[in-house]
Amino acid sequence: MLSVSHAEKIILDLVQPLDGQQDAEVVTLLTAIERILASPVVSQLDFPHWDNSAMDGYAVRYEDVLHCSDEQPVVLEIVEEIPAGVKPQHSIQPGHAARILTGAVMPSGADTVVMQEQTRREGKHVFILASPEPQAFVRHRASFYQAGTPLLPPGIIINAPEIAVLAAAQCTQIAVYRRPRVAILSTGDELVKPDQPLQPGQLVDSNQYALAALVAQTGAEPEQLGIVPDQPEALKQAIAKAIATSDVILSSGGVSVGDYDYVEQILASLGADIHIRAVAVKPGKPLTVATFSASDASNRKPVLYFGLPGNPVSALVSFWRFVQPALKKLSGLDNSWGPVFVQARSRHDLRSDGKRETYLWGCLHLVDGNYEFHLASGSHSSGNLINLAQTTGLAILPVGQAFIRAGEPVQVLRVSADKL
Ligand code: AMP
Ligand code: MG
Repeated sequence: MLSVSHAEKIILDLVQPLDGQQDAEVVTLLTAIERILASPVVSQLDFPHWDNSAMDGYAVRYEDVLHCSDEQPVVLEIVEEIPAGVKPQHSIQPGHAARILTGAVMPSGADTVVMQEQTRREGKHVFILASPEPQAFVRHRASFYQAGTPLLPPGIIINAPEIAVLAAAQCTQIAVYRRPRVAILSTGDELVKPDQPLQPGQLVDSNQYALAALVAQTGAEPEQLGIVPDQPEALKQAIAKAIATSDVILSSGGVSVGDYDYVEQILASLGADIHIRAVAVKPGKPLTVATFSASDASNRKPVLYFGLPGNPVSALVSFWRFVQPALKKLSGLDNSWGPVFVQARSRHDLRSDGKRETYLWGCLHLVDGNYEFHLASGSHSSGNLINLAQTTGLAILPVGQAFIRAGEPVQVLRVSADKL
């Protein structure tokens, strides 16, 4: 059976990222948050736009204030006051100074700012009480960024700092990657919607909602196709519909050994290439990964199909471990789409059968700057979704390691959306 890392490699190699031109859409500054930049941003503005003052003080000619001190101040005549946002009216001549405020444009002739604290004002004159460094407190035009050079690269997530840069550069229309479309369908005759009364033997389709939430949190657009009964024809129709509209299809259930043949048959009849049938992982062994390539001349990328196990915990663990990195890579991110592993100290004994890479769910806590892993209490059955609530990490026991003692280090897959 495939190892987890081998399966991960196969999946990531199958992903063809969205195209920065074909798959771009334009958004406004306010709606760009957490989107992925699709093309490089170049500004025609220099940063700073003008030589300006970094301090409240006096703009002077350096050579005028070479030698001054408390005892022997240099006295300069103030010819102008320059607040931020105002164009200077005078060129500074020898013996002159301009009162200048933070962010205001340097007047021509001046090359240095003396901070206010090192001056004394008397009417139209300023006493310079200490010699500044040459060019002190002047922010030079283009010293932060030169017009025409790359400002922001494609493939990065737009967060508050990038919004600041884009706003400052007057980029109000921003090309971002469209969100990948992810169809979600749940298979099972026993499933009902959360608002339907339960008949004996029935079960609420929780996977549909959990997967939609995970898809949305990953920046993609979930398309909920609902519950499909365990009938080959119904499943075939649902998958065919999903192929037509989606980049990725997530189905849950119906991939365990009993049902397996008919899922594979359906996928094959729809022209799929099947790449993975099972992975040596617990929970989540039955995992089908397939691709559907466009048969027409369109240059549509292959649709990626994940047949996830039906057990709620297995479905979520498979998503976190295999689907999420694939979705991130697809979405146009230039890097940082890989899973995030952290080293933690386990607060509890951790056990597995040692035969499959085992993921145990629980919480990551930062204690004095170090991660601690707290195993969720209660049953670690893959059918128990109740103690999955509050999960922020999955502790990993590699194949061959059946036990990690409390207090020992353990590798943990971080799964929470919030920044711990
Ligand atoms: P299956 O893989 O279809 O054999 O399902 C395995 C187990 O997961 C069964 O106990 C199902 O009832 C349960 N299950 C399957 N699909 C879902 C779903 N969408 N939501 C919650 N539980 C499910
Ligand atoms: Mg089923």
